[in-house]
Amino acid sequence: MPFSSWQAREMRNASPEQQQSVSALVEELTAIVGAAGMVGDEASAPFLVDWLEHYHGTALAVVRPATTHEVSQVVACCAAHGVSIVPQGGNTGLCGGAIPNDDTTVVISLQRMNRIISVDPERFTMTVEAGVTVQAIQEAAVAANRMFGPDWGARGTAAIGGAIATNAGGVNVLQFGSIRENILGLEAVLADGRVFDGLRSLRKDSSGLDAKHLFIGTEGTLGIVTQAVVRLRPAMPEQQTAFAAIPDVSRLGELFALALRHGQGGLTAFELIPELGVATVCAKFPSVQRPLDSRSDWYAMIRLSGPEPVTDALTDLLADAVNEQLVVDAVIASSAEQEENLWMLRDELPPQRLFDTIDAGLKLDVAVPIDAVPAYYAEVTQTASSLLPGSMAYTFGHAGDGNLHLYLLPALDADNDAVEAFIAGRAGLNNAVNDITWRYGGTVSAEHGIGQYLRDELRGQKSAVELEVMRTIKDALDPAGLLNPGKVLPD
Ligand SMILES: Cc1cc2nc3c(=O)[nH]c(=O)nc-3n(C[C@H](O)[C@H](O)[C@H](O)COP(=O)(O)OP(=O)(O)OC[C@H]3O[C@@H](n4cnc5c(N)ncnc54)[C@H](O)[C@@H]3O)c2cc1C
Repeated sequence: MPFSSWQAREMRNASPEQQQSVSALVEELTAIVGAAGMVGDEASAPFLVDWLEHYHGTALAVVRPATTHEVSQVVACCAAHGVSIVPQGGNTGLCGGAIPNDDTTVVISLQRMNRIISVDPERFTMTVEAGVTVQAIQEAAVAANRMFGPDWGARGTAAIGGAIATNAGGVNVLQFGSIRENILGLEAVLADGRVFDGLRSLRKDSSGLDAKHLFIGTEGTLGIVTQAVVRLRPAMPEQQTAFAAIPDVSRLGELFALALRHGQGGLTAFELIPELGVATVCAKFPSVQRPLDSRSDWYAMIRLSGPEPVTDALTDLLADAVNEQLVVDAVIASSAEQEENLWMLRDELPPQRLFDTIDAGLKLDVAVPIDAVPAYYAEVTQTASSLLPGSMAYTFGHAGDGNLHLYLLPALDADNDAVEAFIAGRAGLNNAVNDITWRYGGTVSAEHGIGQYLRDELRGQKSAVELEVMRTIKDALDPAGLLNPGKVLPD
């Protein structure tokens, strides 16, 4: 088979033997996945850059197998050639995990494995291939009068295999847990091509090590997830969201406790939103309406869900919150359009499309114990202003899980010199903030994974023994280190 130009580019400096070997590899891969499963030169670019456009990679080939058997054969073929593999789902990951960081890699995209194998309402399960999007699972669950709990802004593109690999979270973790809590069984291809068949749908099983967890949150470094049995819940047809202005963010924990009490088990979202985010999103996206006329530095978005209408519970919650001066003004979405408007506003808060200074900034996805969020945030912002005067903080997130998406940036009107000064001090600021996070007993990665971006930080996050356990498992399952090298585990 002739090489496409990008493969040729990669091979310019290769010896004739290496060229022959790559040529043989590509021929074998084509024989396995067919022409439809090989991504050509023109189409390969989106597979080789991440969503944030921070990481650009190269690959010997990008393949899109259509079945578990094909994935298994592709992996065995790569293993025989000593070539590493990077699995990829929807490529919405925020830590560069799905982008190759060496030149001798094959990217395996699971996009073509997008079949819903079965929906089983009586068992409250659905069996899906790894490339099915989170949104497609949600919609199939609703069609069966059930619901799939996990949800986040990238739902239409993120695939369940990627979600499993990053142990994704999102807005509903409060109620339904992270992806880990929503996976009953899975199938994965191991580094030598063997298939691990753990496609069970049991609620209880105490028969020793539950090895499926090895593949959850390990970002394709221990195996490639090819299918999963996801857990469904009873439908929650009634849901309503309130948008409330908070006068004093240091009392956020009190508002959360009140929301839990009034929610009676149906609190499905408790999101913290800054005025800067509201103002910027409404200015950039005219289709998003400002929910409240009154202004406050901070707002909470609170959603209650259940089988019966939740309006009364939400109204009582807000009335109590106003009485206790936890909220100064609030609105409850009273139509599907208003509900959609609130969640569009929430989905657009990630700052990548909002602020020009974002590329110079620090992106943090931290979690600390819930009651510590206000004090933690105050300490981080104070540290940022004293280390890098003129810098600004932009944060929003799943406050009910203690999870903040926190960005430290040069001021929005910073000139070039100020941006350069911020960049020069950025690493020091990052270290200082990590130290604060760890002092609060927190994590530097709440739900976005480690990938390439946070690999070095793992040394501070995990104890030496934890790292040894992780390394021992990696060496046992992937002794040649071919699965997603340079990701998650520090050298
Ligand atoms: C706008 C936006 C909002 C987001 N909001 C949230 C949020 O609220 N909560 C949250 O948790 N995340 C969020 N994310 C991050 C992202 O959507 C999740 O990390 C998601 O789980 C990634 O899924 P993916 O299919 O895109 O994975 P990819 O980006 O393709 O891959 C992510 C990692 O998983 C590995 N991988 C992919 N597929 C497989 C597989 N089948 N087997 C083994 N390894 C695999 C990759 O190698 C990589 O290391 C957001 C992203 C965007 C762009």
